[in-house]
Amino acid sequence: MGILYLVATPIGNLTDFSPRSVEILNSVRLIACEDTRTSSRLLQHYNIDTPTISFHQHNEHKKVEQLMGYLDSGEAIALISDAGTPGISDPGFLAAREAHHRGHTVCSIPGASAAITAISVSGLPSDRFLFEGFLPAKKGRSTRLDAVADQECTVIMYESVHRIEKLMQELSARCDENRMVAVCRELTKHFEEIIRGPVSEVTKRIAEHPNLKGEFVVVIAGKNYEE
Ligand code: SAM
Repeated sequence: MGILYLVATPIGNLTDFSPRSVEILNSVRLIACEDTRTSSRLLQHYNIDTPTISFHQHNEHKKVEQLMGYLDSGEAIALISDAGTPGISDPGFLAAREAHHRGHTVCSIPGASAAITAISVSGLPSDRFLFEGFLPAKKGRSTRLDAVADQECTVIMYESVHRIEKLMQELSARCDENRMVAVCRELTKHFEEIIRGPVSEVTKRIAEHPNLKGEFVVVIAGKNYEE
């Protein structure tokens, strides 16, 4: 039987990568990468010269068969995404499911994920939370936003720089002005920033931010939480 390793990669700081991850990536037959060029920076940094193939959301269905070919021959392969944990708003689920169906070993090499990093640093309740990932850009967005506003537990959302201001305005329009939120920007990177406070204030700070670049996770407290 083969082994599929799902290896988490850093979300910004290249040194957030465990010795075991390096050892596994050096030992496997090939590494399936979301983007081989993006991953080459990490692989070069750790002197990993294992062959890579691309495996992204547009070829994932077709490439799963190719990956299974290696596993069916008894080989060990690894899957990585551009950043963070495979399968979390990234390719990985289809390959893991098919490997399980065929009786192969599926093994996680854990590491960073922006969602967990953000809730941990947010100072908002983390005993129960809902991971929303990216909200749909158009169809169904409003329904999902209503559901987020109505949640009793903390909600974690991913958002791009293009829509962060809009998302904050949409949340502000649906939530009590004192609803607590933490916008986590550029986690683990040089310009890491946690903008935390009542949603009305944070929305204003985001709108007035002088240099709103990078990647964002929005963590919003449940509707009954007060501090
Ligand atoms: N698989 C990844 C993980 O485990 O975190 C998530 C991949 S998803 C395609 C990319 C999104 O994750 C970004 O748009 C942003 O919302 C969030 N993200 C990734 N890295 C981040 C960082 N360093 N700081 C803040 N958000 C980040």
